[in-house]
Amino acid sequence: MAISELSRAAAAALIGCASAACSVWVETPGETSAASADLGGEAPGPLDLEGYSLVDLSHAFGDETVYWPTDTAGFALQELAFGETEGGYFYSAYSLATAEHGGTHIDAPIHFLEGGPDVASIPLDRVIGPAAVIDITAQAAEDADYRLTVADVEAHEVEHGRIEPGSLVLLRTGWSSRWPDALSYLGDDTPGDASQLHFPSYGEAAARLLVEERGAAALGADVASIDYGASTDFIVHQVVAAANAPGLENLTNLDRLPPRGATVIALPMKITGGSGAPLRAIAIVPPSN
Ligand SMILES: [Zn+2]
Repeated sequence: MAISELSRAAAAALIGCASAACSVWVETPGETSAASADLGGEAPGPLDLEGYSLVDLSHAFGDETVYWPTDTAGFALQELAFGETEGGYFYSAYSLATAEHGGTHIDAPIHFLEGGPDVASIPLDRVIGPAAVIDITAQAAEDADYRLTVADVEAHEVEHGRIEPGSLVLLRTGWSSRWPDALSYLGDDTPGDASQLHFPSYGEAAARLLVEERGAAALGADVASIDYGASTDFIVHQVVAAANAPGLENLTNLDRLPPRGATVIALPMKITGGSGAPLRAIAIVPPSN
């Protein structure tokens, strides 16, 4: 079996990588042993993550998870077993129930694009790639209804370089510090009513620039939606879905990422037919940052 650099990075991230000797091999289905043999002594060694930091971009799911106001059932973890068995060993197991679009989650294109890819069909290169972190914390602090502009993207690029194709663009608003206070985070916490929400996010023209001209693989944000809270037409969702790009919502810890240089691995639960799914997203930040 051949070894994939990304698979190794992902596995190292998932198990935690505390020592300099951290090396993880993952067998990747689909790659042949012949390909591995061809590399012979030239095969690259295991990915060395010494000095890299691993950043968790997901909120945990539980009783405090913030859901869209119309998803009133929340997150349900039902105990199936907990305790010592007749065999003398401990055993616990649960079933879970959740709306797709609550907590840290992914939007598949089919969420706003009839016939678009479902969660299980999102290509891996849409959810693994270089991060471009655009910071609008200052603008959002002044205006809770702020939307990212084309000028903001251009200012980011003047300072940090052009956003490369395949980037996962992550919008940093500072809103994740309000989590899990739904009133503060969403602007309103009236159950069943999503008509009074206020939080910042992407603007339409900036979203078009990012997915249509820059070739961004996905758009993410540390707020509940890639459209701002007061949106009624969800135009950014429409634009992003039309480009076959997923959305990543309710992210956290974006303040721990450099504007560029980190690698994001954002893997959702692989739900056949799903329009969205709970998401475990992490970033691998190189030593120079
Ligand atoms: Zn969603």
